[in-house]
Amino acid sequence: MELVVLSGKGGTGKTTIAASLSELAKDVLRIDCDVDASNFYLYYEGTDIEAEEFYGGKKAVIDEEKCIKCGKCEEICKFDAIHSCEVDTFACEGCGACVLICPEKAIALIEEKAAYAFITELDNGVISRAEMEIGSDGSGKLVALLRKNGKRFLNKERLIIIDGSPGIGCSVIASITGCDAVLIVTEPTVSGVEDLMRVVALCERFGLYTMVCINKYDINEEITKTIRSFIAQRQLKLVGEIPYDDTVMKSINELRPVIYYEDSIAGEAIRDMWLNIKNIIF
Ligand code: SF4
Ligand code: SF4
Repeated sequence: MELVVLSGKGGTGKTTIAASLSELAKDVLRIDCDVDASNFYLYYEGTDIEAEEFYGGKKAVIDEEKCIKCGKCEEICKFDAIHSCEVDTFACEGCGACVLICPEKAIALIEEKAAYAFITELDNGVISRAEMEIGSDGSGKLVALLRKNGKRFLNKERLIIIDGSPGIGCSVIASITGCDAVLIVTEPTVSGVEDLMRVVALCERFGLYTMVCINKYDINEEITKTIRSFIAQRQLKLVGEIPYDDTVMKSINELRPVIYYEDSIAGEAIRDMWLNIKNIIF
């Protein structure tokens, strides 16, 4: 069973919830697919047992010895990535137009290392995760690799919890393709509702079983009502409503899942939500 935790944008509490759920689930394989802002693994102390270079895309490289400085490559580049016969690797999209136009065959596209993919061994299982190189973007290919890598360690675990990327882009699609269920974490703000609608539309398009959790539901009861009606109207499953709780910030600062704080009302609500999810997915 693969459960992906998603949100319409960063900062809604997605990783806080994914970390707590994976503690409650116990025998669980963790995959951190939020590759651009990877922090799921920060909740755990572990040892990297595998590290693999990931080459995500190609970048143009100019051979100075062959270049006659005709400027044709600079003219054709739609990404403004070539100046004075030098390629700005952050701007280069690897489209190959400069390679085709160069009369001296002085430009080649070479694979660029975009990330390291790790398997980190924890006290209770492993986490599959990545660390991006500066300036690299998380790609669907990297997310697919992390999911494949993690599944090699699937043993007695009944559940895979994936911390997905926020938004509706390529890496989110790679996180949810072929999964069994999605938990969308939303919050009652105007932009939160818009973001929720977009992610729900994506999940519907992929025909995924979709559950929703309203985080900090009590910061704006009016918008929470709107979210509840939207969930009912789209026949989604509202599995949890988590109150605002200062302990959550404390738990993030101390990198300890919030369910371990005895007086935490958010932790209590996440425990209740886990019972609901368990009843649905198992
Ligand atoms: S098109 Fe080729 S030869 Fe002309 S400036 Fe660019 S790299 Fe140099
Ligand atoms: S590969 Fe494309 S984006 Fe990169 S420098 Fe050449 S023309 Fe520009």
